[in-house]
Amino acid sequence: MKFTVLSLFPEILQGFFESSIMAKAVERGSIEYELINIRDYAFDKHRTCDDAPYGGGAGMVMKAEPVALALESVKSAGKKTVFMSPSGNLFNQNMAAELSTEQEVVILCGRYEGVDQRIIDAYIDTEISIGDYVLSSGETAALVVIDAVYRLIDGVINSESLEEESFSKGLLEYPHYTRPETFQGMKVPDILLSGHHANIEKWRREKSLEKTRKNRPDLLSASATSEYEMEDQDGLD
Ligand code: SAH
Repeated sequence: MKFTVLSLFPEILQGFFESSIMAKAVERGSIEYELINIRDYAFDKHRTCDDAPYGGGAGMVMKAEPVALALESVKSAGKKTVFMSPSGNLFNQNMAAELSTEQEVVILCGRYEGVDQRIIDAYIDTEISIGDYVLSSGETAALVVIDAVYRLIDGVINSESLEEESFSKGLLEYPHYTRPETFQGMKVPDILLSGHHANIEKWRREKSLEKTRKNRPDLLSASATSEYEMEDQDGLD
């Protein structure tokens, strides 16, 4: 899979592609990436990429022409093309899974007040928001999306870890412990040391449900809980 990111500050993204699990995935060829500096497509004397909004108001707007040329340079037509925007569709694990099935995703990062609407109308398939807050730039938002998507690609990380984790079954993940057995007087739950796999699994299911009830009751839709509660009548409370 390939990520093509268009940005006024591509250096913000570079480090991510050169670090840790992503660097390995790139080295193995599971992930490809291309970072495009939109300013390279601004051809006036000052390489201007922003201008004042029509109709007045605060801030600047990313100009259409350089962004359009940058998108055309990566042949975005026919590829999944995303604009990061606080007024986009709220990003979640299902959207990450859908994006992970694409051969290439082109991501446009906004700055200032955003981009000229005609770019969105003519070139963008999906606007994605990573949450109900406003960031100063689309680069950090794009990194969130890229991180959530690339780890779902075959061979990037162990597929067993993917099955177990938060949201994969509509619930949050159970708590984890590692050595030492006692830390600041707090002991690892005995059941995790018991070696009894069925009981451990049951305990983890209960903890998963308990944590979801506490932190994200909104996730407890009928479908997600019934599966757990049916298997686990004597469950929690
Ligand atoms: N004036 C805009 C905010 C612009 S913030 C508004 O009120 O909606 C500048 C850029 O940061 C945006 O163009 C977008 O690319 C990015 N950005 C900010 N918050 C974001 C969020 N929650 N999700 C995704 N991108 C975001």
